[in-house]
Amino acid sequence: LLELKNLKKTFKDNHVLKGIDLAVKEGEVIAIIGPSGSGKTTMLRNINFLETADAGTMTLRQKRIDMAAPTQEQVLWTRRHMAMVFQNYNLFKNKTALENISEGLIFGQNKSKEEAETLASRALDQVDLLDKKDFYPSQLSGGQQQRIGIARATVLNPDIVLFDEPTSALDPELVGTVLRDMKRLAERGQTMIVVTHQMAFARDVADRVIFFADGEIIEQGSADDVFDHPQHERTQRFLSAIA
Ligand code: ATP
Repeated sequence: LLELKNLKKTFKDNHVLKGIDLAVKEGEVIAIIGPSGSGKTTMLRNINFLETADAGTMTLRQKRIDMAAPTQEQVLWTRRHMAMVFQNYNLFKNKTALENISEGLIFGQNKSKEEAETLASRALDQVDLLDKKDFYPSQLSGGQQQRIGIARATVLNPDIVLFDEPTSALDPELVGTVLRDMKRLAERGQTMIVVTHQMAFARDVADRVIFFADGEIIEQGSADDVFDHPQHERTQRFLSAIA
C-alpha cells in the first residue's frame, strides 16, 4: 500500500533521517518505538508532507512521489489518502466536536453540510462520544479531545492513519480509553503507523514493531521478536532502560 525508499531529512547539520526504507501492507498495524529525539515524529511529518524531505520516494497506491519535490497536487492527493492524529490533538478551539469532524468532509471532500454531519455523527458514535457533539474542546478532557482527533482522522476514510504519540499528553487514567479506540480501529482493518511509548499497546495490537534510533530502523519484527528476542544491542539497551 505504502512504500518509502531512502527517506532523508537533515536540519542544518543534524541528520535526523538517514535513509529510511519502509513498506506497509494493507491492513497492517505498525508500531514505531525508540528513544526520544531519534526522528520518529519527523518521519511521520515527512510522510504527510508537513515537512519536505531532502531525498526519498514514496509510493502510495502505485503513485510514485518524489518526497524532496512533491507537486502541490501530490501533497493534496496524499493528504486525502492519509490522515494524522497528533500528540496535542490540534482541534479547532472555536468549533464543536461535530464541526471539528465535519469540516474536512465539507471543505476537503465537497460533501453537503447534512451528509458531512451524518458521517461525523457516526464517527463520534464509534468513539462513544456522540453525546458530546455540541461541546467545544475546552469542555472536554484530553482523552475525549484525542478520541475526537481519531474520529476526525478516520471519517475521511483514509488508506493510512499516522499516529504521533497520541497518548503522550494525557493523564495516565485517560490513556486506556484512547488506546481502546485505536485497537477497535485496528480490528476494523485500518492500516496504521503508530509512534508510541505504550509498549503494552504495541505488543497487543501491532502486526510489526519497528525499533528506531538515531534516524535509522535498527530492527523490526513481530512484537515477540522485538520485545522478547531483540537482536541488536541498541534495542536491548532501550528495552532494559524502560522496563
Ligand atoms: P520524541 O519521542 O521526543 O517526540 P522523536 O523521535 O519523535 O522524539 P523528532 O521529534 O523527530 O524525534 O526529532 C528528531 C530530531 O530532529 C531532534 O534532534 C530535533 O531537535 C530535530 N528537529 C525536529 N524538528 C526540527 C525542526 N523543525 N528544526 C530543527 N530541528 C528539528
